[in-house]
Amino acid sequence: QAPTPDEVLAALDPEQRAAATSLDGPLCILAGAGTGKTRAITHRIAYAVLSGRWQAQTVLAVTFTTRAAGEMRTRLRELGVTGVQARTFHSAALRQARYFWPQVYHSELPPIVSSKLRFVAEAAARCRVPADLAGRRDLAGEIEWAKVSNVRPDDYPTLAAKAGRQLAGYDAATVSHVFAAYEEIRRDRGQIDLEDVLLCAVALLADAPKVAAAIRSQYRHFVVDEYQDVSPVQQTLLDLWLGDRSDVCVVGDASQTIYSFAGASPSYLLDFTRRHQDATVVRLERDYRSTPQVVKVANGLLAGARGEASRHRLTLRAQRPDGPPPVFTEYADEVEEADAVARAVQRLASRGTPLREIAVLFRVNAQSEAFEQALAERGVRYLVRGAERFFDRPEVREAIVLLRGSVRAAETSGAGLVADVHAVLAATGWTPEPPTGSGAVRERWESLVALASLAADLAKERPDADLATFVALVEERVAAQHAPAADGVTLATLHAAKGLEWDAVFLTGIHEGTVPITYAETPDQVEEERRLLYVGVTRAREHLSISWSRSRTPGGRGRRSPSRFLSAVRPKGGAASDAGSAGTAGERGGRKATTRSVARCRSCGQPLHDASERKVGRCAECPATYDEAMFERLRGWRLEQAQEQRVPAYCV
Ligand code: ATP
Ligand code: MG
Repeated sequence: QAPTPDEVLAALDPEQRAAATSLDGPLCILAGAGTGKTRAITHRIAYAVLSGRWQAQTVLAVTFTTRAAGEMRTRLRELGVTGVQARTFHSAALRQARYFWPQVYHSELPPIVSSKLRFVAEAAARCRVPADLAGRRDLAGEIEWAKVSNVRPDDYPTLAAKAGRQLAGYDAATVSHVFAAYEEIRRDRGQIDLEDVLLCAVALLADAPKVAAAIRSQYRHFVVDEYQDVSPVQQTLLDLWLGDRSDVCVVGDASQTIYSFAGASPSYLLDFTRRHQDATVVRLERDYRSTPQVVKVANGLLAGARGEASRHRLTLRAQRPDGPPPVFTEYADEVEEADAVARAVQRLASRGTPLREIAVLFRVNAQSEAFEQALAERGVRYLVRGAERFFDRPEVREAIVLLRGSVRAAETSGAGLVADVHAVLAATGWTPEPPTGSGAVRERWESLVALASLAADLAKERPDADLATFVALVEERVAAQHAPAADGVTLATLHAAKGLEWDAVFLTGIHEGTVPITYAETPDQVEEERRLLYVGVTRAREHLSISWSRSRTPGGRGRRSPSRFLSAVRPKGGAASDAGSAGTAGERGGRKATTRSVARCRSCGQPLHDASERKVGRCAECPATYDEAMFERLRGWRLEQAQEQRVPAYCV
């Protein structure tokens, strides 16, 4: 049974209610992560429809991912509202273009290209520009940016320079040529790409008054979620939908702008009140998602933000009860980090947190391999979201095919395993030294590094292993990865995690060079990296763990430092900073301990994070296993410390 309009409003706080009842004219909801923006707009639509003010069929709600659009439809259905169009920009545009194209151009809308990368490859070949898979991806990304930014091939060099675009490996004139050739090839084949879908809808609305009138009479109320991600072409489409009306509600958080490299711009959100002087502005500050401890970290990150996206600085106010303190941990290397995270995941699961409520997040896809391996070793189910699983990535698949081929042809040098694997990888153009490039070039290189370090691990464990043994190990891992996983821990990049929430979130690899990523050079690019970390932190409802490792490989000489963004949010005194170092030496294939040993919890083996834990030899996560007397002593000691304000009260 559908709720009454009053019941719909009763589920909102006063500011959310103000937004939900402001049904006429432009409305802008500016609010931070987890403050209930999506909730406010779905309730606003439900209130308007259930109270009879709007007809459901006249509402168009748009967002950016299929999943977010689906979630909006689910929330509306739960509120007893059906018939509202909740779609992504692309699907709304495609639907309109498919319907009206034949009326205006007397033919079907052209089909959508099945492989954009193939067209990019053809275009590059036509221009005699060398482009391997990574290069093709970079070029395709740049063409996408140009198209959503209304930049034509001829204007690319000037406008790309103005926008501060830099593409490693290709100069602007080259990109412009490949872009022009790509468009020519695409047109010759009579196909359109996803950016064209938006451009076709724009063309129909702008060129055919009949179409514009029909669409405008169908839709009267517009809502846009995650508006900070809107691109110029999407904004143009929205303007055309509206015509001279202004019944639009936009919702966004400039601090979550993480797609500016793909053409998104927070300026539309920030300038909304300038474009619509009569706009009602609602700010939400209460955070309903996360514990005060998590919110404090998020606010700490925001406080240091610079640049345009921080113009309307928002501070989140936590509403939930206290939770566990966020954990900051440094590990000796990535293997140890992955192992510790897998163990912590298992521990949470054994205490009743469902696996689907746990996420392990990282900056670049290549980082997922270590976690996939560590979780698989412990038999923990996982799902990789928004990215290919490690062994599904084209470069890794290509390398595996070559490795198999070498084993079949017995093309081994006998120089040891690691050397054989390097030789095979070298055939794909890979070198152990990092490329100067960025973006896809770098990601591809990192994936192959991960494959090479698998070989190095195996060589340490089994010095007699040969290439065939390595390939067999890889095959085993591939098979394990493809086992169906209905429910599991989410592994995702920070980008893919936006809009989602979990009880427990592990942010991993948060060191300089990864967050911010090496190729973030300009102050704006560095700020986008800070926002990415903010998005990651604000996904956590309760448990937040942030970690990094000093070197990539076991025994490596690297001296990586924690991300600069953490200095403002880590507990002072570096209590947890040394935690995981070198403690597992001996546990993993005889790796030598290189630094002092670290105290570990006697119950679960986790490194101990602070003095109070070291004193009793157990971690704060393990109170259930404390004997009563020990627990009381610890509690008493912590109370004393809290009174002296040496530890925060929530630790007690
Ligand atoms: P993001 O910026 O990450 O997209 P958001 O602002 O859209 O976040 P929501 O997803 O709408 O936030 O809400 C976050 C969580 O808080 C959800 O679990 C939601 O159900 C809950 N929530 C929002 N508003 C309220 C409220 N007034 N009372 C209780 N819970 C609420
Ligand atoms: Mg939302």
